[in-house]
Amino acid sequence: MNRACARVDLDAIRANLRLLRSRAGEAEVMAVVKADAYGHGMIPVARVARDEGLTWLGVALPSEALQLRASGDSGRVLAWLWSPGDPDIVRCVEAEIDISVSSVWAVNEVVAAARAVDQRARIHIKVDTGLTRNGVSVDELPSLIDAVKVGVHEGVLEVEGLWSHLADGDTPDAESVRHQRRRFEEASDAIVDAGVQPRLRHLSNSGALFAHTDCRYDMVRTGIAMYGLSPSADLGTSADLGLTPAMSLRARLAHVKSVPAGAAVSYGWRWSATEGTTLGLVPLGYADGVPRAAGAPRQGTAVQIVANASLCPVVGTVAMDQFVVDLGPSASSIAGDEVMVFGPGADGEWTADQWAEATATIGYEIVTRIGPRVPREYVGEDAGL
Ligand SMILES: *Cc1c(COP(=O)(O)O)cnc(C)c1O
Repeated sequence: MNRACARVDLDAIRANLRLLRSRAGEAEVMAVVKADAYGHGMIPVARVARDEGLTWLGVALPSEALQLRASGDSGRVLAWLWSPGDPDIVRCVEAEIDISVSSVWAVNEVVAAARAVDQRARIHIKVDTGLTRNGVSVDELPSLIDAVKVGVHEGVLEVEGLWSHLADGDTPDAESVRHQRRRFEEASDAIVDAGVQPRLRHLSNSGALFAHTDCRYDMVRTGIAMYGLSPSADLGTSADLGLTPAMSLRARLAHVKSVPAGAAVSYGWRWSATEGTTLGLVPLGYADGVPRAAGAPRQGTAVQIVANASLCPVVGTVAMDQFVVDLGPSASSIAGDEVMVFGPGADGEWTADQWAEATATIGYEIVTRIGPRVPREYVGEDAGL
């Protein structure tokens, strides 16, 4: 590492996957690797998941699924978010990628793609059970089933899955989960009554795997938990859940200087030193995914000096490429010293979940936003996979 890196511990991902699989019992675990595996790097993470024996990978976009194929992955992949006319759909059918459909137009486009390449396409029918985002509404389900049956009878469609997504999967005892589960059962019955038999039903995300055992069905789709972050503070910290955060964001101080009392720091002079102190410059900013809200006047966030495990507060406004930390009056740090912005939390350093809490967001947003300017570095036995 020179300026900075996001170190990704692939052994931690492997251990997290093992824990999730044991919790899932009979249900399969789909490793959700969309958004570059939540910032951890899609291809290396996918390799670990496959090596660990996972049958299914999940991504949002058809283009992400095609990137997996381009890397040599030949296992089952589901892609679930696309708009009419997406030229990648025909490529996905050709590459034997499972495609989610939420509308009649989507069924028709998959059928057309399958005809064009003379191959059978596999679909997962997504039903809206109450999240009110993607998914076919209950009213529209009969016409979607009719369109599906046309493709099935022609031999160009196969219904692999029936699925939905929860609004409060990570909230124990949520009324909305009971409601969505009932809707899911009703949709499932309606589809079977219409003569369509999906092979897999899946409803849970990471949070629901921990909070709602009755939503497991045949498969659970886990994203955040495989990266070692807690789906929600309501469920506890990652340590409480037995998970290990895989990513640590590290940097080398680019500048260190002593300043007198009263020295005002960064844009807007929102923080000034109350006594003479030493300041360190961390060469990461909001363009790299460090939340601007972490700086003054909000503050409260801290980075760790790796050499002595001391925590130093972020002071002043976080800029595009850099932010300042207060190393304290008697600091011995010099330029080049390593700091950990967040990590697993085992040595007192802040975790991504703590950064999220301090900046009014969720851990998902902290890790997925670490930008392309930050090189990923892989450690663990799997680093050479
Ligand atoms: C991202 C996503 C998941 C994974 O959710 P986590 O909370 O990260 O486990 C599962 N299903 C769908 C539809 C998603 O978009």
